[in-house]
Amino acid sequence: LAEKILLFTDSVIRRMTRISEEYHAVNLSQGFPDFSPPQEILDRLSEVAQKGPHQYGLTWGAENFRKALSEYHYCFTKQRIDPEKEIVVTCGSTEAMMAAVMTVTNPGDKVIVFSPFYENYGADTILSGADPIYVPLYPPLFDFNYEELEKAFKKRPKALILCNPSNPCGKVFTKEELEYIAFLAKKYDTFVITDEVYEHIVYKPYVHTYFSTLPGMYERTLTCGSLSKTYSITGWRLGYIIAPPAIINGAKQIHDFLTVAAPSPLQEAAIVGLKFGKSYYDDLLSMYTHKRTIMMDGLDTLGISHTNPQGAYYILLDISEYGFDNDLEFCELLARDIGVGAVPGSSFFKEPVYNLIRLHFAKNDETLYEALNRLEKMK
Ligand code: GLN
Repeated sequence: LAEKILLFTDSVIRRMTRISEEYHAVNLSQGFPDFSPPQEILDRLSEVAQKGPHQYGLTWGAENFRKALSEYHYCFTKQRIDPEKEIVVTCGSTEAMMAAVMTVTNPGDKVIVFSPFYENYGADTILSGADPIYVPLYPPLFDFNYEELEKAFKKRPKALILCNPSNPCGKVFTKEELEYIAFLAKKYDTFVITDEVYEHIVYKPYVHTYFSTLPGMYERTLTCGSLSKTYSITGWRLGYIIAPPAIINGAKQIHDFLTVAAPSPLQEAAIVGLKFGKSYYDDLLSMYTHKRTIMMDGLDTLGISHTNPQGAYYILLDISEYGFDNDLEFCELLARDIGVGAVPGSSFFKEPVYNLIRLHFAKNDETLYEALNRLEKMK
């Protein structure tokens, strides 16, 4: 077998879902909703089921989907992008990120990744033949040291991966931090690959800045996005890359051979979502703000210390006081004996961190209360 397979494991996030299912635990490990997508999207899906399309669509995405996506993108970024030349529709942002890294790196190139990081970035870089350079984010705010970041840039990386808002730590990068990253990206002539799938889940007073909107950054940014989190359709596998034409040309080529095309009936049905007005996104944020409060208040009552997410729908819990030095073992016992599925924090950190576990709160309120009730048994 290929040696690179030995350099990473299967996804611990998805492994924890399998373990949660085995023990019938409340699954707060892999981040996906247990509530329905918007009814309008489902109604449209029923129509599409009858009328089609059901065959391969255009490789880089259905024309009407890309047009709707470019309008959607304009609403939030005020960037006018050409749906023909500056978008490739992918099978989720998972494929978008993999294709983005493959588009800009050669074997042996370096890629900066902030740690903690969403676990796919490790595999994305390794499978592309590139080598990650990790730069730590320091709790409690998960900010980075400017000198440490420049030191990483001095190693002449080809790209930096920016997950904003960040999974798993819930950090929303400040404008000043992003401007500093932009300054370094320009100085060292580096691409920036962003994962902005939680763009609409940014809690007040924090504000999301799209990296590509910073002066001079569009030309070097590959913006990866997804419909999964925004419309609660993680199983539909609809994501995309937005970038200048020369980059997208390369990404289209890679995407073509990875997956041919994203599911055509689902693109057709999801267009309804892309056309929703502003109130939809306000409601989405209110819903997640409420769920975040349930989790934070519930954990406070249980006396479990935790992060205060500024964005996304994950919360890290400090399990130091339970006396485990292996967070994977802790999560297995948590699923088996307490009935709550979590992800061991170590799967997100390059540094040896074994005292954190990640829960997500994209679940019905009742599901969250049930999980909190079960966590009480840990006392
Ligand atoms: N992004 C989600 C998480 O971190 C789902 C991961 C996945 O399995 N694609 O849990």
